[in-house]
Amino acid sequence: MGHKKMTRAEFFGAWKGVVAITLATIAGGHVLTTGVLFLTGFKDAWLHYTLSTVFPLILAPAATMPLLVMAGRLRLMKEELENLLRLDTLTELPNRRAFFEKAEIVFKRDSAISLMMIDVDRFKQVNDNYGHDFGDRVLRSVAQSIQCIVAQTAGAGVKFAARIGGEEFAALVEGLTPDAADRLAKYLVEQIARLPVQGDGQLVSVTVSVGVAHRRAGDAPGVVLHAADNACYRAKRLGRNQWRDADADAVQPATAAVQSAA
Ligand code: GH3
Ligand code: MG
Ligand code: MG
Repeated sequence: MGHKKMTRAEFFGAWKGVVAITLATIAGGHVLTTGVLFLTGFKDAWLHYTLSTVFPLILAPAATMPLLVMAGRLRLMKEELENLLRLDTLTELPNRRAFFEKAEIVFKRDSAISLMMIDVDRFKQVNDNYGHDFGDRVLRSVAQSIQCIVAQTAGAGVKFAARIGGEEFAALVEGLTPDAADRLAKYLVEQIARLPVQGDGQLVSVTVSVGVAHRRAGDAPGVVLHAADNACYRAKRLGRNQWRDADADAVQPATAAVQSAA
């Protein structure tokens, strides 16, 4: 990096700092020079002031320009690294780390929040039947659909999707009623089942199972996601290509008992 040629943009990005440091160096030199001249009765004052101006004027920019350009590059690299740290490279969706960071922020607010666990059905078979590369293509395609659908959900509040595992995605929606969140889960299931992925001259479609859970006061993101994961697992056991609400499953036995008693 140290040998990369400085670009015009980098040069002009650093010039303000260079000018400031150069002027500060000259000012400091003049203060010192004045102090010394005071002791010597201001002998050859013009010569000393000239020297304490000319040297910093040449040396300070030569020394500080490369350092400031380097500092600018480090700042950019840090930003790039921090972005990469939160990005899933296969699908270009936010990754697990980004999901939990976002959730921690949103969970501090007092709004309605639902989390979804979205797991691709029988994905191992896709890999086995069509190969791993095609499996990757399917994952990218599913990821794009999930992100579009989640991001386009109406209403104020954060709508965030991420790839949190191999063929597992998660979504966070803020400001939706539990019913609206369930409708979104239903829509995700239906849309993804409709979406064919092109491979080896044939169209393949995959399905997903979705679990939805709603945040209750005091719940941490991990607790809600765990509930969503359990609901997703129930959707799997009930035949896949469907969604389950964690609360609906929790109250169903009670309702059934009331019905059978009636
Ligand atoms: P289920 O319906 O129960 O979820 O079945 P499944 O086959 O989807 O679940 P399982 O957990 O058995 O298999 C997940 C598969 O996902 C296994 C693994 O090889 C595959 N997988 C995980 N990450 C990737 C990836 O990045 N690319 C590809 N092509 N496959 C992946
Ligand atoms: Mg899975
Ligand atoms: Mg799966």
